[in-house]
Amino acid sequence: MPENRIERICIDKGMKMTGQRRVIARVLSAADDHPDVEEVYRRASEMDPKISIATVYRTVRLFEAENIVERHDFGDGRSRYEEATDEHHDHLIDIKSGKVIEFQNQEIEALQEKIAEKHGMKLVGHRLDLYGVPLDPSGDNKE
Ligand SMILES: [Zn+2]
Repeated sequence: MPENRIERICIDKGMKMTGQRRVIARVLSAADDHPDVEEVYRRASEMDPKISIATVYRTVRLFEAENIVERHDFGDGRSRYEEATDEHHDHLIDIKSGKVIEFQNQEIEALQEKIAEKHGMKLVGHRLDLYGVPLDPSGDNKE
């Protein structure tokens, strides 16, 4: 199994990397969506059928505590995870399909800094999740 980014970070942090941790690290490194623990477990099981959901829970929480992965709550009560990177992005969630779109917007970033400044603060971080439904081109977008 080739080494992945999360595994490298763990090793650099001096964490002990068991085979199962490596599998979970690999799943999270490869994910380009925002899987919840059950989905991480499903993907990890394909690589190692002996892995338990308890191990996945514990490992994902450990990675979160070490700031290796980021946890999100997109409004459905499930925690979702993605690899923490230096590159910031915000999320737009389609509440019908659950699809998550990542975006960056410089105007929003600048506006947030201005708001913080106005209140005598220097902005050090933020979370922005937008929720939407697809615009129906036929104009029939009512529930
Ligand atoms: Zn994301």
